Amino acid sequence: ADRTRGATVTVSTHCAYCALQCGTRLHHDGRAVGVEPSPDFPVNRGRLCQKGWTAPALLTVPDRLRTPLVRRADGALAPAGWDEALDLVASRLTRLREEHGPDAVAVFGGGGLTNEKAYALGKFARVALGTSQIDYNGRFCMSSAAAAGNAAFGVDRGLPFPVTDLADADVVLLAGANPAETMPPLMRHLARPRLVVVDPRRTRTAEQAVLHLQPAPGTDLALALGLLHLAVTDGHLDKEYLDTRTTGFDAAWRYAVAWWPERVEQVTGVPVADQREAVRLLAEAGRRYVLTGRGVEQHSKGTDTTAAFINLALALGLPGRMGSGYGCLTGQGNGQGGREHGQKADQLPGYRMITDPEARAHVAAVWGVDPDSLPGPGRSAYRLLDALGTPDGPRALLLMGSNPVVSAPHAAHVARRLAALDLLVVADLVPSETTELADVVLPVAQWAEEEGTMTNLEGRVLRRRALLAPPEGVRTDLEVLHGLAVRMGQPAERFPVSPRAVFDELRRASGGGRADYAGITYERLDAGEALHWPCPDEDHPGTPRLFLDRFAHADGRARFAPVEYRDPAETPGAGHPLHATTGRVLAQYQSGAQTRRVPDLMDAAPEAHVEIHPDTAARYGLSEGDLARVTSARGSTIARVRLVRTLRTDTVFLPFHFPGAGRANLLTGPALDPVSGMPEFKVSAVRVEPWQER
Ligand code: SF4
Repeated sequence: ADRTRGATVTVSTHCAYCALQCGTRLHHDGRAVGVEPSPDFPVNRGRLCQKGWTAPALLTVPDRLRTPLVRRADGALAPAGWDEALDLVASRLTRLREEHGPDAVAVFGGGGLTNEKAYALGKFARVALGTSQIDYNGRFCMSSAAAAGNAAFGVDRGLPFPVTDLADADVVLLAGANPAETMPPLMRHLARPRLVVVDPRRTRTAEQAVLHLQPAPGTDLALALGLLHLAVTDGHLDKEYLDTRTTGFDAAWRYAVAWWPERVEQVTGVPVADQREAVRLLAEAGRRYVLTGRGVEQHSKGTDTTAAFINLALALGLPGRMGSGYGCLTGQGNGQGGREHGQKADQLPGYRMITDPEARAHVAAVWGVDPDSLPGPGRSAYRLLDALGTPDGPRALLLMGSNPVVSAPHAAHVARRLAALDLLVVADLVPSETTELADVVLPVAQWAEEEGTMTNLEGRVLRRRALLAPPEGVRTDLEVLHGLAVRMGQPAERFPVSPRAVFDELRRASGGGRADYAGITYERLDAGEALHWPCPDEDHPGTPRLFLDRFAHADGRARFAPVEYRDPAETPGAGHPLHATTGRVLAQYQSGAQTRRVPDLMDAAPEAHVEIHPDTAARYGLSEGDLARVTSARGSTIARVRLVRTLRTDTVFLPFHFPGAGRANLLTGPALDPVSGMPEFKVSAVRVEPWQER
């Protein structure tokens, strides 16, 4: 605790939810927990959103899991002791491995896990289970931006500059990002710049823009190609920057040349004059940024679309310059750190590729194992979920920090695959739609009950601190992994339960890698140092701004990507005449497993809804407040109609936070980006019709 005054204990920590990781001070007076924003944390300085203000309610949710649950012979989940539950899981995992090989058991993690948990989970999979079958829900969040960023710059860090730099910008282009609703405190940094927003919806962010480009869903790649075309033909190319800091422009231009403004207007619906104005605003400003978000990334061509916006930024000479740049607004709380430490199917800690012999040798030495014993790359998230319980797929899954029955695409299919497993083990703090399918549920500590670190969207490593001990009967995820590993024959010291010990090992494992934490210590963080990776030694000040001298490729240059337009996997047609796009609302977070238990948030956003233009609603016989059935080729969802004029008349919008028959992901499909494995959350073809409650 930072201080104790009378009976009140106070700790400085960070929010329970999104990637902004707003600084908070939590107080406990012996009866209740209070929260206030940190006055001096630069990201949010004195501000929180509604979710942050109400986060203490998570600590007292009435249905908190407090004992392990095991599915009994009668089919019901019933309370069990920890030894019984862990013995059962370890023995069944061991038997499945022996009978069917190590890839018969799989692991699925989450982008909200602390760095320590993400690291320990990856190590547990590769060492204790020996399986290649691990991935995480960040695949559904950040993977397209990560793939495009790695290809362009040689390393991917959401914002390669402090978020506070945005406050001095003159113009910011936001492509598929709606921070006014998803992370409101960020908007204080966007108060000065003129905003150009690319979004099929007129979002709260778009309402603050000087220019809103509203492309048809799934066509933003054509728009990005067109903006590059105009940057060239209207004479805005930064030729010196191209010559000295980049390669590959000619190949990228070969595709963009065919996207003249009138053709772009025909495909996207964005008027030529608006395209030209967007490029002019961006090109003629002094300090300018291009930022992307899930709107352009969650597509079966998300990597190429993100790359096309990076191409635009490169053509204008923005990345790697003081006061300008490209960045991606990460979503989940540890969306950045969660992807650096080995939860991804193809990566080891420090952003090391699992196929790289040197990387394997380095990490194996830290783990004290033979490099040849480490598995190779596994399946990406949706492919992994899709393979569960199939003849060639895993027969058991350990799931930590994720609720895929709500958050994964083609959710009904994913639920069927989970139900087909021989063994599903879920570690979570509350019951969820996924724990309902589990054979074993393990109750774990949350946010303000344990120590650890998170890495926010600007690559800054932050200390999360415990205000309270976990409730009686609850263990930490690190204790769970330790308990299972020991039961499966691993030396106890190989899986420490102390977050600090895990972090110190993570530092060594990441050392020399692309996301290098070697010089970051709990002591330095506790002393208040602002440490952005890479930070290779304890005398290093960290790196708030990347790429100022060179990009991370061997030749120091950024790469243009040659990207070609293609349609979404589904376009509206007979039977399904509308686009459906999914996203978030301010008062809910991810699958809603946490926020749907917070009364104030439920008052603000109580149920599944579908936003629809009044003209479209009238065409299909729908009025405000009606229930509508929305149907795609995968299935139907039932949602309350909200009439809005912020949408195109060919598009409906559904938030994805709600359970049961209101799941937006009952509609989304299995089309994946071929590079990143990102599903196509943002475009499905649907029809809408009135629905009567029975
Ligand atoms: Fe928490 Fe994100 Fe809201 Fe900040 S913006 S208070 S981190 S949910």
